[in-house]
Amino acid sequence: MNQILQQYGKVTGHEVISHLEQLAESLKGLKVVHVNSTRVGGGVAEILHKLVPLMNSLGLDAEWRVIEGNPDFFNCTKGFHNALQGFRTIIPESLLRVYEQVNEENSEELRPLLQEADIVFVHDPQPAALIKWMENRKGKWVWRCHIDCSRPYRPVWKYLRNYVKEYDASIFSLAQFAQPMPHPQYLIAPSIDPVSEKNIELPPHEVEAVYEQFGLKPDLPLILQVSRFDRFKDPIGVIEAYRLAKKVIPLQLVLAGGTAADDPEGEAVLEEVERASAGDPDIHILLLPPDAHRTINALQRAADIVLQKSIKEGFGLTVTEAMWKGKPVIGGDTGGIRLQVIDHYTGFRVRTPEGAALRIRYLLHHRERLEEMGHLARHLVKENFLLTRHLMEYLALMISLVKGFKDRIDVSK
Ligand code: UDP
Repeated sequence: MNQILQQYGKVTGHEVISHLEQLAESLKGLKVVHVNSTRVGGGVAEILHKLVPLMNSLGLDAEWRVIEGNPDFFNCTKGFHNALQGFRTIIPESLLRVYEQVNEENSEELRPLLQEADIVFVHDPQPAALIKWMENRKGKWVWRCHIDCSRPYRPVWKYLRNYVKEYDASIFSLAQFAQPMPHPQYLIAPSIDPVSEKNIELPPHEVEAVYEQFGLKPDLPLILQVSRFDRFKDPIGVIEAYRLAKKVIPLQLVLAGGTAADDPEGEAVLEEVERASAGDPDIHILLLPPDAHRTINALQRAADIVLQKSIKEGFGLTVTEAMWKGKPVIGGDTGGIRLQVIDHYTGFRVRTPEGAALRIRYLLHHRERLEEMGHLARHLVKENFLLTRHLMEYLALMISLVKGFKDRIDVSK
């Protein structure tokens, strides 16, 4: 067993690693390419940074490529994102042409690699149209959707579906997100990497250091939301919840975020958040660089409660990360948060700032419940949302793709 795998074995138990090795045996040397639209920022990049090396350590020949786009392209794809999450978004024809043109241009450079690959995973709508310019593709193509598209705005989905239906299969994070399609659909929940800088145990002094680093008060309860500045993450709702809770119990709030290279709306949302928090010295808005993984880790560990008050959420890795650190999460009652925040058990699901404030006060007044829920939260993540389980499902999917969707597959051959 190589060193990388051994590290995971220490967290999950070595039998999990043996199982992975057994599954990967028949896939050794398989050329697998993942394509997305940003190397930093957001959950997809976070996952690919870890999933791709782990596939390689099991003997697959995996690679990750990122398409390039211009501002109009990313405006268009942000429109897709908003529309898939249910917002009525009108995308002008001119932007759709830019979307197609950028995909065609990227296909030129990627064609030699993608046409020869055994399996290509295309993540989210940004590169979805690449398939149109890959007439002579040799392998299987899978569209991996990370977005909550339980109720997409139909005209936009209809446009995107024209590309997506050409794929051999698609993957969604939850059953509710799946869409009628002429190919097999798989459900795979995302995951976090327990041995990454973002999630490893930290020495106490490193956790305590964030108080000084960001001017936080050591004696005041700390509530935290880590998120890109995106309206679907409802940072304004978090500030409202904090203000309501603070009327009863003193506390401080950290909103930590950055911008993703493929998200053009971040700046505007950040300005809204700054306006909404102006004048309150106990609201800390932290704009962190994309590699601030240890800092986020320390903040999540320092927090008493973590919030993820999203209105729509494909999965919410920030929820998983906090739960892994033994924190109860107060999360929006939506999408992938429902898989993770089991109401009254690993945290609370809420729909309004008032609901969030009520739960904040409850947990801060009942420390033993807070501890207990945090403990259960970590356990739920250990059993369900670590990278090893995620990879296991990818391997099983690849076996079924390569071996042709047989009812029964002998993984020993
Ligand atoms: N993240 C980060 N820096 C930030 C904001 C977020 O590193 O400033 C990370 C966060 O820790 C998580 C991922 O980006 O790993 C966000 O994934 P999630 O699924 O929560 O949301 P998405 O951004 O994909 O909608």
